Amino acid sequence: MERFEILIIGQGPAGLSAAIYTARAGVATLVLGSDPKVAGNYSIDNYFGFPETVTGRELIDRGVEQAKKFGAAVERERVLGIHTGEGGSFIVKTDRREIGACAVILATGIERTVPKIQNIADYEGRGVSYCVSCDGFFFKNKKIMVLGEGNYAANQALELLHYSNAVTICSMGKPLAMNPGFVSQINSTGITVLEKKISMLKGEGHLTHVVFESGEELRTDGLFVAAGDASSIDFARSLGIFTNGNFIQVDGEQKTNMPGVFAAGDCTGGFLQISVAVGEGARAAKSAIDYVKKICRE
Ligand code: FAD
Repeated sequence: MERFEILIIGQGPAGLSAAIYTARAGVATLVLGSDPKVAGNYSIDNYFGFPETVTGRELIDRGVEQAKKFGAAVERERVLGIHTGEGGSFIVKTDRREIGACAVILATGIERTVPKIQNIADYEGRGVSYCVSCDGFFFKNKKIMVLGEGNYAANQALELLHYSNAVTICSMGKPLAMNPGFVSQINSTGITVLEKKISMLKGEGHLTHVVFESGEELRTDGLFVAAGDASSIDFARSLGIFTNGNFIQVDGEQKTNMPGVFAAGDCTGGFLQISVAVGEGARAAKSAIDYVKKICRE
């Protein structure tokens, strides 16, 4: 397994800014992600140093180039999950591989796919969960459904097999978008896949059934939401990191409550702007560099 001293999740302003600092300080750095939303033909008029304006595309391209110039590895990979490894290290699972890291900086922005099921909020904590590592145990030998169409959903469904053999993936009517590797694991482990849309949930006090658009009902004790990509909140939940609503809680040095995990940019809330994300990225980098030098290089 390849190892880096600092692994940064996110290639937006926060993640790239952090990478410029960590790589320039001589710390082995990997940045994972893909183009952030702002990397299009949008004029950015309020970012320092560009009186003639700059497009989001150019700003991000320049950030990637600058991080690479100082030695950061920048890869287009989606992170599916983070687990703690030996001696306080982290193992980050992506859609391609597993990578070891001494410290992690979460800079994943705030994009989050929320399924459109009318009464889903009524069942949160009563059958509906967003975190397999937190709640999978409560559904031992029960009928479990994972909501999602991509690699994240596939990974969550495979993790749930530790608790139950009755696992179904429901893509909410979307075409499946999973790596061939995941498709064959799903087929060989007997996970059922349904490309149907759920319109509502049913059950007295606790989820017992999902109701599809067709009106058909299916017995389901647990529904794990894993639509689209894993977000910072999903990572925070599975690691036990404190959150404020949908944002990660950090202190004035961008440290979370978990040693070795830092967060920066939109995923921490506040003023959701490029300049703020860049500043927080720099601060997270400083904290992560100090951590690596103290903890990982002894
Ligand atoms: P983001 O830029 O959202 O980057 C998040 C990164 O995380 C992306 O690279 C994404 O691929 C990655 N990621 C997410 N999940 C995963 C995963 N599971 N695995 C791997 N990677 C993952 N702000 C301004 O200051 N001025 C403006 O003019 C302005 N205009 C904007 C125009 C648009 C269209 C948009 C969408 C935003 C605009 N903003 C503007 C806001 C600004 O873009 C954000 O505040 C800023 O980009 C936040 O940076 P970030 O690095 O925290 O997150």
